[in-house]
Amino acid sequence: MKSDGVVDITVLGAGPVGLSTAYYAGHRDATVRIVESLEQIGGQVSAVYPEKHVYDVAGHPKILGQKLTDLCAEQGLQYGADVRLGEEAKELSRIERDGEELYSLETDRGNRYLSRAIVITAGHGAFEPRKLGVEGIDGWEGRGLHYFVREKATFAGRRCVIVGGGDSALDWTLGLQDTARLPITLVHRRDRFRALETSVNEARRLAADGGVRICTPHEVRGIAGDGSMESVTLENTATGEVEEVPCDALITLLGFVSHLGAIAQWNIELEGKRQIRVDPMTMETNAPLIFAAGDVAGYPGKITLITIGMGEAAIAANNAVAQIRGEKAQPKYSTD
Ligand SMILES: Cc1cc2nc3c(=O)[nH]c(=O)nc-3n(C[C@H](O)[C@H](O)[C@H](O)COP(=O)(O)OP(=O)(O)OC[C@H]3O[C@@H](n4cnc5c(N)ncnc54)[C@H](O)[C@@H]3O)c2cc1C
Repeated sequence: MKSDGVVDITVLGAGPVGLSTAYYAGHRDATVRIVESLEQIGGQVSAVYPEKHVYDVAGHPKILGQKLTDLCAEQGLQYGADVRLGEEAKELSRIERDGEELYSLETDRGNRYLSRAIVITAGHGAFEPRKLGVEGIDGWEGRGLHYFVREKATFAGRRCVIVGGGDSALDWTLGLQDTARLPITLVHRRDRFRALETSVNEARRLAADGGVRICTPHEVRGIAGDGSMESVTLENTATGEVEEVPCDALITLLGFVSHLGAIAQWNIELEGKRQIRVDPMTMETNAPLIFAAGDVAGYPGKITLITIGMGEAAIAANNAVAQIRGEKAQPKYSTD
């Protein structure tokens, strides 16, 4: 087991909030190591929706997900954070070295990283897409079944059926209008969508123009094809009517199931099953010098948005630095 040099702060997770934490810590002249289980940085934004536009991050009226995380990385890594990709955090313990109490974080690669403080920005932890309850569904992966829209070009000229009633399903029904073969079939098991009203209105407008076919309340009952996908069977659950719809690409956007994994075993108080409880004044957990920020951090009234997580990153980093140095937490403005 290797033990690398001691840093001030280990940041667990390289999503937008982990990168923001690295920025604020570096800005305060703290040393940082980021440990990320994926082989890439950018968290959910790069993994799930790199080509979706984001409209609600302050200072960016409209920006592609990947572009946003590229900028987060440019800003967050400018002070030379040590980035360890492809390593999942597993064990956390308190050790003493040269009279100093440190955290020791062990990863699934057998590395051990030492730091004075930890900021957990693990999002939803290890997450995976929620799947349709259709027999043999896994067998269609790589043969026309998609859980993400990573590159729009994959769907160029394809007959797409999108399943879901939330923002992702509506966003991609609109977002693939210039790419897929029209109409795109949008399937939802209820009549009412959960997505942003303006997106639903736009989809209904496109339905009138032939760009979208809205099937509600419908469910997917089967998938057929010789080798690759050729059609899906839809049932109108109100009438019981069944129809076969030609389909090369079935895109199911039904959200994710996720779990905190090893982090949940670290004796840190949780908020529900998916979040770590923090004091929103400091973003500190019940464990000394362990902070959390972003989607993983929970407190009453929490809203899981990038902008909020970035604010929490500033609070967490500033408080971690203050505690390590035995100072009062104070902002330091950026300046030349
Ligand atoms: C489809 C979709 C659309 C969205 N659109 C918007 C939007 O328009 N605007 C907006 O503000 N928000 C949006 N969000 C929410 C936004 O993406 C999240 O709020 C944001 O990604 C949270 O950032 P984070 O850094 O806290 O977590 P994440 O982005 O989830 O990053 C966490 C990182 O931690 C890593 N990790 C987890 N566990 C471990 C471990 N044990 N060891 C090492 N690494 C670990 C993960 O691999 C991941 O890379 C959207 C979310 C989705 C799913």
